[in-house]
Amino acid sequence: MSQFWSPIVHDLDPYVPGEQPKVANLVKLNTNENPYGPSPKVLEAIRLGVSDQLRLYPDPNATQLKQAIADYHNIETQQVFVGNGSDEVLAHIFHALFQHDAALLFPDITYSFYPVYCKLYQIDYQTVPLDKNFVINLQDYSTNNAGIIFPNPNAPTGCLLSLNDIERLLQRNTQSVVVVDEAYIDFGGESAISLVNTYPNLLVTQTLSKSRSLASLRIGLAIGHADLIEALVRVKDSFNSYPLDSLAISAGVEAFKDQHYFEQTCQQVIASREWLTAELSDLGFEILPSAANFIFATHPQQDAGELALALRGQGVIVRHFKQDRIKQFLRITIGTTEENQHFLTILDGLV
Ligand SMILES: *Cc1c(COP(=O)(O)O)cnc(C)c1O
Repeated sequence: MSQFWSPIVHDLDPYVPGEQPKVANLVKLNTNENPYGPSPKVLEAIRLGVSDQLRLYPDPNATQLKQAIADYHNIETQQVFVGNGSDEVLAHIFHALFQHDAALLFPDITYSFYPVYCKLYQIDYQTVPLDKNFVINLQDYSTNNAGIIFPNPNAPTGCLLSLNDIERLLQRNTQSVVVVDEAYIDFGGESAISLVNTYPNLLVTQTLSKSRSLASLRIGLAIGHADLIEALVRVKDSFNSYPLDSLAISAGVEAFKDQHYFEQTCQQVIASREWLTAELSDLGFEILPSAANFIFATHPQQDAGELALALRGQGVIVRHFKQDRIKQFLRITIGTTEENQHFLTILDGLV
C-alpha cells in the first residue's frame, strides 16, 4: 500500500544490522557485542528497579545518569546528552547539527549508518577515501563542509587515530561541528573528551553497548559544549521525551560506578584480540592493526565471502561486507577465550 507512504519513505535506504540468529549454540562473532556479561552490580540495579514503580514515567532528563557520566569524565552535566543507544544520539546529531549548505564529510569505509541518516534527514554528504593502508587521513578533510564525522577507532577496520591528529583537525576546522564516534574507544584508544573544553565545535559520542556490555538496554551518550548539547535536547524533546527507561537509567549509573569490572573485562578483550591476531597471522591472514573489540582480516588465497559462508555452515558467524575495497575482508568480533579457540579450530580446517 505504498501509495500511502510519504514521498521520502520511497527513497530511504535503511540500515541492515548484523544477524541476531534465532537458533541457539552458534558462536556469534558478528555484531561486536561484549563476550562478558554486564557487571553484577548492573544486574542488581535492574532487579531493584523491577517494582510497581514501573507505572511511573522515567525522569525525562535521566539526570542521575548524566551526573554519573559527568562525574566519571570530570565535566559538567550540561555537557552530557543521553539517548536510546548511540544510534539515536547520532540521528539527533545529524538532524540538529549537519543540515547546512555544504556537504557532510565522512570516510568511504566507515559505519554504514551515516549515509542512512543523511537520506532520512536529506543531508548532502561526500565520502573521503581511506588511504591505501585503510587509515583515515584527516589532512583530506580540509574542504568547506557542513560537518565532519568519523569513528575512532574506525569501523569496520579497527584502525585508531591519535589525539594529536584529531586536535590538528580541530585547529584547522573551526566553522563546522566535528563528531568523533567513540563506540570502541575503551579497547585501547585515547578519548577526545579531554578536548571538549577547548574546542566548542567538538562532539564525542560513546555507547554502553560494547565496552560496558549493555547492547540490549540501548544507552548512548554525547559529550560536548553545552550549546551543542542544547541543540540535541531540543530535537529530543521534539521527538521522544523519554528515550531512556528507568531500568536503563539505573543500570547505566551502576555501569559507570563499577570501574573495576569494566577495566578487567576490557583488558581481557584486548588480550584476546592480541592472541587471536597472532594466531590468524600464523594461518596466513593479514590483519589491520585494531584498537577495537574486533579485528578486520583478509587472506590472500581465500575468498572472504566463501569463508564466511563456510564458517556459518559450521556454526560460527562473522561479518562480511559486500562493499568495494573491503569485499575480501572479514570482521571478527573478539569472543570469550573458548569461543576464540573454537573459531580458530574451525577456521584452521577451512584455510
Ligand atoms: C555499535 C556502534 C554504534 C551504535 O551503538 P549503539 O549505542 O548500540 O546504538 C555507533 N557507532 C559505531 C561506529 C558502532 O560500531
